Order: sequence, then structure tokens, then C-alpha cells
Amino acid sequence: MNLEVIKRAAKVIKGGKFVVALTGAGISVESGIPAFRGSQGLWDRYDPFEYAHISSFYRNPEKVWNMLRELYDICLRAEPNPAHYALAKLEEAGILKAIITQNVDGLHQRAGSKEVIEFHGNGETLACVDCKQKFRITEVDYRNSVPRCSCGGLLKPDIVFFGEMIPHVALERSVELTKKSDVFLVIGTSAQVYPAGGLPVMAKERGSIVVEINLEPTPLTNTVTDVFISGKAGEVLPKLISLVLDN
Ligand code: NAD
Ligand code: ZN
Repeated sequence: MNLEVIKRAAKVIKGGKFVVALTGAGISVESGIPAFRGSQGLWDRYDPFEYAHISSFYRNPEKVWNMLRELYDICLRAEPNPAHYALAKLEEAGILKAIITQNVDGLHQRAGSKEVIEFHGNGETLACVDCKQKFRITEVDYRNSVPRCSCGGLLKPDIVFFGEMIPHVALERSVELTKKSDVFLVIGTSAQVYPAGGLPVMAKERGSIVVEINLEPTPLTNTVTDVFISGKAGEVLPKLISLVLDN
């Protein structure tokens, strides 16, 4: 964690009039939820591009629900970490206008963030693929078998699988916020899943200053990023936000 770089980023954020953040799986790693890339565990056993593809879900729901079962067990136990709380504080101070998150774990809202666009949906609810009836994960018995609706239809979490469309409203709102931003924070995302990965590029093209926080460089770092802070989101963000809020 380089203090000089963090100070530079704090100055940029202080000068911003419309700050927007894009977050990815990396921000929840310190809450114990493994990301696709980087730290592994779960994804050594389940190739996300196979298991998180919509065609796999319909072809072999038992197999995909084995992965979902483990993921739910981890996510339902997880708590927000200092990175989530720091962003909530920045919003409360009126500086951060919105978070566009690729995560489906609900941790930003649990940390107190209000304006959260869930680009890839949220695992908290499920829908019957046949009659579309909605269920909450807490009222579904998914532990012993593939959960089904009373009509017999499969239950699918309200998350966007690979091969599915981004919910229309989330996509439109994200593009609108991105274009409006003058400072764009990119936190814990490899920016390799599209179209979310294209948002920092769009922000940059519209004249936004891009501040990136990640453990390691990404394809954005040498192309669109203006200030790159290398480190753990849970350590960098509290420090950065306290510098922004201290006068
Ligand atoms: P990714 O797994 O592709 O990349 C994670 C990035 O975070 C990497 O660049 C890694 O270097 C970085 N990282 C890891 N630990 C970090 C830390 N402590 N601090 C800062 N950076 C850290 O994640 P992605 O770009 O979000 O794309 C994966 C897709 O998978 C997304 O669509 C997301 O919806 C989904 N996903 C979600 C969750 C979740 O909801 N928590 C978890 C796994 C995957
Ligand atoms: Zn049904």
C-alpha cells in the first residue's frame, strides 16, 4: 500500500462532483467469498465458465446446484468487510453517488449503501423457470436436492448466468451513471466479464478520471486507469476514504 498514491487518489476523489464505483468479486474476498480469478478454492473444483453458464443449468441442474449449494453456504455466512463499509461512508458523505456491482452477495446493501445497481442480479431471490413465481433463499430447501416450485418447475437464483442478458434497467442505469461520472472507481474486478468490463472504458472516453484498486494489475491498468492503487480493498479503501473525509 503506497501512501503517496493513496493521497493522489484522495485528491482526485475530493475534486469529483459525481463519483461512481464499479465493484467486482475482489471486494468480497476479505469477507470469505472466493473470486473467480486470483484466490481460489471453490473455483478449483467448479470451472465458473462451465458451471455458471445458463446452458449447463438447464442441461444438468443437479450438477450446477452442487456448486450453488456451496456458494450459498459461503455467501449466507459472509459479513461485509471494511471495504464495503468505507464505500457506504463515502455515499453517506454525499460524495459517492452510486455503486455498480457485479457481485450477487448483497454485501454492499448490508454495509449500508443505498444506491446499488446489481449488474448481475442477486442470489437472495429465486424464480421458478416455468411459472416465474418468486422465492427467497431462506424459504427454500436447497440443501438436499435441486429446489423446485409447487408447479414442478426448477428454481433458478435471480443471478445473471453466462449466456444470459443483463437486466435491462440495470444496464441502462449503469450506462447513464457511468457517462455522468467525473471520477470512476474500479475496485476488485478483473474487468474481463462483459459488458461490465466495458464501463471503465466508457467512463474514460467521457472524460472521467479512473481510479483502480486491485491486488494486481488488470487489462485496464495500463490503458484506461489514471491512478492505480495496488493492495487489498479492505485495507486501501478505509485509508483512502478517511483521507477524503478528513479536512
Ligand atoms: P474476478 O474473479 O474476475 O476478478 C477478481 C479481481 O479481484 C481480480 O482482479 C483480483 O486480482 C482482485 N482481487 C482479489 N482479492 C482482492 C482484494 N482483497 N482486494 C482487491 N482486489 C482483489 O471478478 P469479477 O471481475 O467481479 O468477475 C467475476 C464475475 O463473477 C462477476 O460477474 C461476479 O458477478 C461473479 N462473482 C461474484 C461473486 C460475489 O458475488 N461475491 C464471487 C465470485 C464471482
Ligand atoms: Zn412454478
